[in-house]
Amino acid sequence: MKVPVLIPRIFDYPHTYLSGKFDKLKPGSIVLVPFGRKKEIGVIWDKQEKTNKIFKLKNVLEKKSISLNENLIKFINWFSLYNLAPKGMVLKMCLGDESFFSKNSNFIDDTKIKKKNKFNLNPEQKRCLDDINGFGNKFNVTLLQGVTGSGKTIVYFEKIKQNLMQGKQSLVLLPEIFLTNQFEQRFEDYFGFKPSIWHSKITKKNKKIIWQNIVNNKIKLVVGARSSLFLPFKKLGLIVVDEEHDSSYKQDEGLRYNARDMAISRASIEDIPIILATSIPSLETYNNVKNKKYNSTKLKKRYKNFLLPSTEIVNLNLNKKNKNIWLDIKTLNLARKYLDSKQQVLFFLNRRGYAPFLICKKCGLKLACPNCSVFLTFHKQLNKAMCHHCGHKSSIKQKCQKTDFNCEFQMYGPGVEKIFAELRQIFPDKTIKILSSDFLNKKKETINLLKDIENNKVNILVGTQLISKGFNFPNLNCIVVVDADFSGMGFDLRSTEKNIQLYNQLSGRAGRFSKKSLIIYQTFNPSDKTLSDILENNPEKFLEEESCLRKEKKLPPFSRLIAFIVESNNEKESFLEAQKIKKNLLLLKDIEVMGPVTSPIFKIKNKYRTRLLLRSQSNVLVQKKISRILKNLNISKKIKLTVDVDPLNFS
Ligand SMILES: [Zn+2]
Ligand SMILES: [Zn+2]
Repeated sequence: MKVPVLIPRIFDYPHTYLSGKFDKLKPGSIVLVPFGRKKEIGVIWDKQEKTNKIFKLKNVLEKKSISLNENLIKFINWFSLYNLAPKGMVLKMCLGDESFFSKNSNFIDDTKIKKKNKFNLNPEQKRCLDDINGFGNKFNVTLLQGVTGSGKTIVYFEKIKQNLMQGKQSLVLLPEIFLTNQFEQRFEDYFGFKPSIWHSKITKKNKKIIWQNIVNNKIKLVVGARSSLFLPFKKLGLIVVDEEHDSSYKQDEGLRYNARDMAISRASIEDIPIILATSIPSLETYNNVKNKKYNSTKLKKRYKNFLLPSTEIVNLNLNKKNKNIWLDIKTLNLARKYLDSKQQVLFFLNRRGYAPFLICKKCGLKLACPNCSVFLTFHKQLNKAMCHHCGHKSSIKQKCQKTDFNCEFQMYGPGVEKIFAELRQIFPDKTIKILSSDFLNKKKETINLLKDIENNKVNILVGTQLISKGFNFPNLNCIVVVDADFSGMGFDLRSTEKNIQLYNQLSGRAGRFSKKSLIIYQTFNPSDKTLSDILENNPEKFLEEESCLRKEKKLPPFSRLIAFIVESNNEKESFLEAQKIKKNLLLLKDIEVMGPVTSPIFKIKNKYRTRLLLRSQSNVLVQKKISRILKNLNISKKIKLTVDVDPLNFS
């Protein structure tokens, strides 16, 4: 009998084999097949590929004891179609490592709820849970909205508990892997057992154990980052996407997809409920609630009724004397009051390193990356200038063009390391720590730092946007936004939406257990529109206004955008290929193609980049037709084409 077998490689179709001595091969069966000169793992697929070519068919060699369920196959097919990604590459995400199919490793049983739940739901939380239960156990999307600190987590914990009692599996997606550690603890406190943590940084051995126990329905609860969406659940009953608005759910490299949207697809295929939790929803979700596609339920008060922080604007034009000092005297006086009463202060700045520009005082050289069209950021800790796109590091000892000596670089603009240095001078007797991705490479150090912060062993924190994401610091009652100037930040149609969400979340970090908390915005533009939107703290009004604006400009969610990025070693070639692709795309009806234009960052890692942007109606699945066009297109081997459906990043 002929069987279709999908190989986890860059193929968009299954290959045909003969079932040989195995008569019970069903879609989802994992098999070993000869492939070229090697043997490969593959999965029996649902549909045969029609082909006129005649091959000599080979036999399936071996059938593994584990298999994928058919819903996962449907999910892979849909994922591949929607994101214009080869099916084989999606399957690869689901199968992981080849060792997963060898003998079963440790057996896990996480199903016993040992401790009694000591958390009591307040009346608001009970009402939300009742709402969610009222929406039923078939596929439906519920927005669980509540200000930071309102106790959304407990609501979905209770829902997970109900799901566990029915013997079903639950998946909780988090936007950031750094968060999983703190979450693990909260889960354990609540359920009395550790959930399984899944993200790219866990060990191979752990991955194998978790994968095998998920496929046999022994593990019931997984907390993970984007990639946990591809796990082979046997009996999935509930998905929760926490901080659903977070743009980290969008994978921007390799296989490009939005994990929140794909989680909704997976829930739909599994026919199970999905909860999207956030304090301010993304505009997409907001519109789906408005159009009654999604349900919603809302927590209006902060848990235990603590007030949100009050705000203070510090106008940097008034006191600033020294060009290279970034902390205002007024800011420091306010912060000092908190420090004096042993409360923590966070200085927030979304810029890694020490200074974003280096310019030689003598010859005017501005240090730029040799591989990318961006300037280098000085990192004091490394004593090197670094590119944040390709990781290139340059020594700051450069032969000067004007003198016989090395360049004398002046540092411009602040980075977290610079703020750290300033604070060191002003508060020499305080413990000051930086929380940014550069400093959190080791898991153990990260956990220790987070513990020290929780236990009030750290007085001052300097952090990048990483810190806005769901951390729970009981003594943090004052936040300083070092640089609240929003003009000209990034190449992104969502920057206002993102800023509103970021600062909302950030201010939610303060005063979780206190009545008096403060957030200070330092700015050169006190009358800026984005800043006043943030201060007004009326997300519904903002979302409504932004929604009108997007509708008027035909931007998502009122249209669908698909980006095509053409990369080449040769600038002209990249442009010409993009033109060719555009000509072919224009054969489609009811679409618009903008470009080709050179990318805002026109060179990354020595590749020249040209972009096209296709716009179609949001209710039409144009991907099917695009896929056909791309398959018939003879794309030059010298270029790399990346397709990005629903792009968030336009650099
Ligand atoms: Zn670079
Ligand atoms: Zn110089």
